[in-house]
Amino acid sequence: MPESPEVQALVEFLDERVVGREIAEIDVAEFRIVKTRGRPPGSLVGARIDGLQRFGKHVGFDTTAGWLMLGFGRNGWIRWHAPDEPPGDEAVPEVARIGLDDGAAMQIVDTGDFLAVTTSVVDAPADLSGIAGLGPDPLDEDFSQDEFERALGTRRKQIKALLQEQTSLAGIGNAYSDEILHRARIAPTRHAAVLDGDERQRLFEATVDVLRGAAADRRGLPPDRLKQAKVAAMAVHGRGGEACPVCGTTIVDRVFGGASAQLCPHCQSEPSPALRRRPG
Ligand SMILES: [Zn+2]
Repeated sequence: MPESPEVQALVEFLDERVVGREIAEIDVAEFRIVKTRGRPPGSLVGARIDGLQRFGKHVGFDTTAGWLMLGFGRNGWIRWHAPDEPPGDEAVPEVARIGLDDGAAMQIVDTGDFLAVTTSVVDAPADLSGIAGLGPDPLDEDFSQDEFERALGTRRKQIKALLQEQTSLAGIGNAYSDEILHRARIAPTRHAAVLDGDERQRLFEATVDVLRGAAADRRGLPPDRLKQAKVAAMAVHGRGGEACPVCGTTIVDRVFGGASAQLCPHCQSEPSPALRRRPG
């Protein structure tokens, strides 16, 4: 699932290449991705792209005829084709294609079993409830500990699920939530309400450090190398059975509440009930 560091790198990569260009054609191969039937993507043909912006895990193209909003779901992505590298005959799970006036093309693909890419054309990004409802974004320069505290609150919700809740914090998914919790040395099953002051401080710092570090590392990579770079950079996510890079303990897979997590049982041990302190 694309998460904010990779989507941010994608947006920066495309920004240098598509801003100022006109949309020459939009072919939608899979109409189920179109969420604004009265305003299909094709209504943007002839419009100029004035800018690109990331909203959590979504991308928005700001055009002279409205915003084209893209949600990638679990397995969506954009394949970039420079003007001298047009899409070939290679079979790809293309759901839509955007051609630009200089001959460049963006293939929107979805490699999942269940189609999850979405496109919408709107006057403003916040016209979509999923965008208007996004929580604060840890990649924003002015993201503060106060905002983080408000997102956590004193909720009796498992912290891994809370980190991935887009209305609480924007941009985090399954992989980076595992990485953040490992960095903060907190078990994914603990509830926000029981974390003490030190733990909340560590979790805030880990959230910012993991996401901003990943965004800095991915910057400048072409879109087709971002997923591979993300997988290679993981300390615990997807590494069940391997050694924890911090302490050497074997990383374990846990399944709870219908979700899975990888964690280090030593670095992220659950405190025994007697040692649990009250939230600070
Ligand atoms: Zn460890």
